[in-house]
Amino acid sequence: MKKDIERVLVDEAVIQKRLDSMAKQIEEEFPAGPIVVIILLKGALVFAADLLRRIPRELSIECLNVASYHGGLESSGKVDFLDRHFPEVKGKHILLLDDILDTGRTLVAVAERLTEEGAAAVHTGVLLAKDKKRAEEVSADYVGFEINDEFVVGYGLDYKGKYRNLPYVGVLKLSAAN
Ligand code: 5GP
Ligand code: MG
Repeated sequence: MKKDIERVLVDEAVIQKRLDSMAKQIEEEFPAGPIVVIILLKGALVFAADLLRRIPRELSIECLNVASYHGGLESSGKVDFLDRHFPEVKGKHILLLDDILDTGRTLVAVAERLTEEGAAAVHTGVLLAKDKKRAEEVSADYVGFEINDEFVVGYGLDYKGKYRNLPYVGVLKLSAAN
């Protein structure tokens, strides 16, 4: 796997340190009471697992499968909800977690759906946000790192299903993207 990485963008220690401060900020800013965390699979899995263990608060975890990239390098422009059941969110304070904010379509589509389903408030957190003009005007409430607009893998993010278990975020070699 390592041989396919052009360069490391955010190394493991830096990610872990940033998660400490993100968790602290979430803990301080979230209104009192339980949180329902919604993890967007599969990309946000690693980020969420490390982040949530730093939040000393009653919370429950739900997962959603949505697809926008379909395993390639470019966004397809459409967000599909793949689960048969949608979690019960009526009146709940939601922390919606995704791996990366790119065009913004995923976060907008999921946040809209959560609001339609009656969520009291939807707060969003992403490990990474690409510094670019988005298709949807959206920003996340909690952002781990702003990065340049390039395709990254690792720490949950994949290319064709691979590299999710790298402990850092890196840029894929062009020769590996085929
Ligand atoms: P958006 O809907 O904001 O365009 O895209 C969000 C989704 O696209 C993310 O959940 C992620 O799955 C995928 N994505 C966007 N940029 C990248 C990237 O640089 N690398 C990987 N592996 N996935 C990305
Ligand atoms: Mg994803």
